[in-house]
Amino acid sequence: MSASLFDEFSFDHPDNKGYGKSRRLRLLSSGDSHFSTIERLFYRGWKHPKKTKPKIHGIFKILSPNSNLSPYHRYRAMVTSSPSLRSRTKNPGNEQFLFHGTNRYCRLAEDLTRVRLCNFSKCHLCSIIRNSFDVERCGSKHKFRRFGKGIYTSACSSKADDYTFNGDESAGLRVLLVSRVVVGNPHKRRENATTLTEPPCGCHSFFQVIGEPGGDLNYEETVVYNNDAIRPAFLVVYGDLPPQPHSKIRSVLTNLFKTPLAA
Ligand SMILES: [Zn+2]
Repeated sequence: MSASLFDEFSFDHPDNKGYGKSRRLRLLSSGDSHFSTIERLFYRGWKHPKKTKPKIHGIFKILSPNSNLSPYHRYRAMVTSSPSLRSRTKNPGNEQFLFHGTNRYCRLAEDLTRVRLCNFSKCHLCSIIRNSFDVERCGSKHKFRRFGKGIYTSACSSKADDYTFNGDESAGLRVLLVSRVVVGNPHKRRENATTLTEPPCGCHSFFQVIGEPGGDLNYEETVVYNNDAIRPAFLVVYGDLPPQPHSKIRSVLTNLFKTPLAA
């Protein structure tokens, strides 16, 4: 990705002046090249025919300290130099942007100025943005894990959307994490293996195409087993705000008070 001295997701990158531990989310303008990339991946990955394509309200870049990014760089370099990938010249670590839905117990990004992370221990969203993923915590809410204890991601945004959950009932929008994932040499499987803890020798991840019940859709899932194979990179804020029942009355009142009382 970036050829500069610092990772573009680092606080220390010259583009990210003013960002730091208490300010990690950087709103992308719609003209930013990352904005169009993520927007394209989001809509291309929205495959469920029965789920209406939602509106994107904003896309944030997730920034982290170097101490958090360095283990990812080391892991990526290790994978890149593995014999099974040596012939790849373009994107040798097979790094991909993949979606992950999780629970949110606060109103982070509910409007685009609300960017402070919460401290609720059950808010996985803020925990992932702050400390990245933890294999031990991932998937704990899903009883059935097709590929054992790992970090699950997908190019299918509408599938990742199934795993989003707003613990704060007043939150109307939804958010999806887009992560950088070192997919490396994926082990492609057809059948489930719920006791797995790592891919076989020479492979770095699992990849499976899964058919939704009903048979009208297939989606892919990529699972990594190493915390350093993944870092959160973007946050997509999307969905439809429920209509405001009083907005019509409010606009009438507003207009009323704007009207001069004496003509
Ligand atoms: Zn939170």
